[in-house]
Amino acid sequence: MAMFRRWASAKGLRPSETRCVRATRPGSEDLRFSVSGDPGIEESYRTHYISPVLSERKQQQLKEKLDRAAQPVVFQILSEAQCSECGAAIERDELLRMEAEQPLCLRCARLDDLEYLPSGDAALTRRAAKYSERTAVVVRFSRTRGRYERQGILVETAALERAERECTEDADQRAAARARGAAQRREEDRELIARMTERIEALFPGCPPREADAIAKHTAVRGSGRVGRTAAGRKLDERALSAAVAAAVRHKHTAYDEMLTAGSERSFARERVAGQVEDILESWRE
Ligand SMILES: [Zn+2]
Repeated sequence: MAMFRRWASAKGLRPSETRCVRATRPGSEDLRFSVSGDPGIEESYRTHYISPVLSERKQQQLKEKLDRAAQPVVFQILSEAQCSECGAAIERDELLRMEAEQPLCLRCARLDDLEYLPSGDAALTRRAAKYSERTAVVVRFSRTRGRYERQGILVETAALERAERECTEDADQRAAARARGAAQRREEDRELIARMTERIEALFPGCPPREADAIAKHTAVRGSGRVGRTAAGRKLDERALSAAVAAAVRHKHTAYDEMLTAGSERSFARERVAGQVEDILESWRE
């Protein structure tokens, strides 16, 4: 969080504390995010960062939207509790609402007419929430991650039914749209690889064409994090592509991989083959 704050302030973003409310019967109280209630943690969770580039009016609108978006929170509990009003037992994994520090069963919290929709189907969740006048967010404390995680939402039955109907009706269209997106990405990748191959061949005329193509295909793999996927790589920047070609030469034309397999330190192995890599690149440049 501290790192994010530094990043945000370096970007000139101004912290703005938003009240994350949960409705309680006497009024509303601030939602507690951390188990400890530590004021530092609480403030950092409540703080949304607003860009100073936005006008005052836009900033105000954004703040109002964030405040409005605050939904009541319901907890899926990890250990048994008791409703403070009717005395009903609330079992582990059941839902409980905290109001004024007191646990309530959903009936006493007047949320028992809502239906639980677990996360997982983004379109269904978005539609059900849109059609529901009243909603609540269901969270559960993750002991391993040390924080509350969203499990799903509570929505009105009619809203859920309408959302389910709509999702069934346009399921084919949505599947087709997903397939179109995938096809488009494959096409973009093919174009990127073709342009990259051309550029590698221009930078290294001596590089065998099949190798130039293999290097482009390897470095441009989507989601690989390789240099071909970086902004510089996609712009066919000379240094980025040279780095990709050098890496390929290191793996294919030197003993680098064998040295690593034999247990050499990466930096040591790199240094040992650096001269050889440079010689091959040099011979490919003309
Ligand atoms: Zn109760």
